[in-house]
Amino acid sequence: PLYLDHLASTPLDPEVLAAILPWLAPAAVGNPHAARHQPGWRAAEAIDAARAEVAALVGARPGEILFTGGATEANNLALLGGAPAGWPVIASAIEHPSVLACLPELAAQGHPTEILPVGRDGTADLDALKRLLAGRPALVSLMAANNEIGTLQPLEAAAQLCRDAGALLHSDAVQILSTGAVDVRALDLAFLSLSGHKLYGPMGIGALFVREGTAMRPRLLGGGQQEDRRAGTLPTALCVGLGAACRIARRRRTADATRLLALRERLFRALRQGLPDLRRNGSAAHGLPGCLNVTVPGLDAADLLLDLPELALSTGSACSTGSPEPSHVLRAIGLSPEDSYGSLRLGLGRGTTEDDVDRAAARLVAAITARGPR
Ligand code: PLP
Repeated sequence: PLYLDHLASTPLDPEVLAAILPWLAPAAVGNPHAARHQPGWRAAEAIDAARAEVAALVGARPGEILFTGGATEANNLALLGGAPAGWPVIASAIEHPSVLACLPELAAQGHPTEILPVGRDGTADLDALKRLLAGRPALVSLMAANNEIGTLQPLEAAAQLCRDAGALLHSDAVQILSTGAVDVRALDLAFLSLSGHKLYGPMGIGALFVREGTAMRPRLLGGGQQEDRRAGTLPTALCVGLGAACRIARRRRTADATRLLALRERLFRALRQGLPDLRRNGSAAHGLPGCLNVTVPGLDAADLLLDLPELALSTGSACSTGSPEPSHVLRAIGLSPEDSYGSLRLGLGRGTTEDDVDRAAARLVAAITARGPR
């Protein structure tokens, strides 16, 4: 099928695969934390090099990067491990479930928790953030870009408000890093999460940036790896793969963003022409170049996709498929449950061509039109 679900997962870059393969071979034996012999220290060196690549992508120092089992773990660690005792925790209404699901646990631990509302295009309400901060320190979690509607958040302005209030800012940057730059220093971030499989790297590996000097309680306890902040033997091959993916992203992100933006608008125009009542969700001006989220009023999008096995795309968030609930993101920007069920998310990526976009639009328009009046 034609793969248009790059916000759910990106294909492994061939250069990443080539970097990983030697580390899966029997000859690459060696625990990177048992560096008293050559096999161990060779693995440790490869991981150090990868850590430096991850750090370089976001403007951090290598010692500020912790490898994790993905962004879910990184987000959990930032919120559950990074909130100082008793501090309020504020998260935007459209954060990934791996952020929002931490809030009940934080509340049970005695943290006041607050949801930061977003406007109709998914942009966080900065006046509300100012009110919620009200001059008191808090941990704020605001994603760089949303994974369902693609809206880019005003991180610079939010960072300034956090700085003024003495708050710690965490940003889930999972979706932005393949097409946009985030600089932890310029934004004065305390925490930043990223994920390999949204960056043309491997699944099951991610990283958390923790600003030097920031207190954080570990969630995984054990053998003291990664300076006691995240126990567990690191998977050398996956770390090397994430490092390679970060190096490639740094080289490609600007050109990829330009190309994907043109493709996204071409796709939108083609869909709009065939389906005049189509509505766009998110922000065209401040949106991820590879993300188009649309609503066709009256459509049963999940049912439509059953008729279109040749297209791989999403209705709502890929991370919560299987749950029949309307997307919390679409609800937060004011869509009715019916309009949520009529919504499609198209995620374009490095391999997507003009021909792909034209074919996808033609198939969708034909299939939706064939269903007759809605
Ligand atoms: N944050 C965002 C914005 C995402 O899109 C995802 C996707 O799954 C995650 C976090 C979770 O990342 P992972 O799959 O690495 O756990």
